[in-house]
Amino acid sequence: MIQITMPLNFLGTVYREIRQALIDMRELFELLDQPSEVIDRPGAPPLAVSGGAVRFEDVHFGYETNREILHGLSLEVRAGQTVALVGPSGGGKSTVGRLLFRFYDTWSGRVSIDGQDLRDVTQESIRAAIGVVPQDTVLFNDTVGYNIAYGRHGATRAEVEEAARAARIHAFIQSLPEGYDTLVGERGLKLSGGEKQRVGIARTLLKNPRILLLDEATSALDTGTERGILESLREAGRGRTVITIAHRLSTVVHADVIVVIEAGRVVEQGTHEALMARGGRYAGMWRAQNRAETAAA
Ligand code: ATP
Repeated sequence: MIQITMPLNFLGTVYREIRQALIDMRELFELLDQPSEVIDRPGAPPLAVSGGAVRFEDVHFGYETNREILHGLSLEVRAGQTVALVGPSGGGKSTVGRLLFRFYDTWSGRVSIDGQDLRDVTQESIRAAIGVVPQDTVLFNDTVGYNIAYGRHGATRAEVEEAARAARIHAFIQSLPEGYDTLVGERGLKLSGGEKQRVGIARTLLKNPRILLLDEATSALDTGTERGILESLREAGRGRTVITIAHRLSTVVHADVIVVIEAGRVVEQGTHEALMARGGRYAGMWRAQNRAETAAA
């Protein structure tokens, strides 16, 4: 028996280590995911961020030369506003997010932050100005404190705790046997989906970006957890420009502006009330969602 279980245990350890290495690599690739064709102009200055205003002007773009995805898309997000991008799957919402990061250059038209064309400034400074809260936060096999501090090199414990407080995860971390020194990830304490997401929010907050890009979770969190996460995100967005890529309508009601993107174009924009009163695409999406929810109940 011993002879059999020992190699199995050994294999289990190797498996876990390989798995963790893959997780670390995935995180790295996500962070470094920059297609090589986008290069900084020689001598390009860093982006000078003030309020974090974002503008897309008549943007045409596609991933492949013969397939245009955005057909003259324009949108304006004023400094400090919360904007939600909604619309059918494949309409181009995530593409807007990728162009804001300058993972790609537009075919024509212009993307700017605080009046500066993204092609005229360094990519590094663009990415420093924008914080992303991804759908899935990948945790490193390390302490929960390290996992948050990863948001900014050289952050002090006090700063880590402040970010955790804003993400509403501080009390939970303090309740752990070893507090911020508790090991998490594959070999440590397993965190729930909601807890992981809060660690991700704290990590992003520590970076203190002017602009927050939220790729709203599609993962199934229970309603209570989801409400808590939304509150954390609202808190995180205070005093910043927030762009939410929304996959569900219920979370966008409070946005300053809702932008409906369909087949690569902005087809409607306004507040929830204005768009409902208008009785167009957005109102239709609400009716369809309510019908689906009633049918499911
Ligand atoms: P969803 O709500 O489903 O996430 P979305 O509105 O965010 O959709 P995008 O992800 O922006 O839509 O996709 C817009 C279009 O661009 C889709 O037709 C998609 O197939 C295409 N697309 C997205 N990423 C790539 C890529 N890396 N290479 C080629 N085509 C892509």
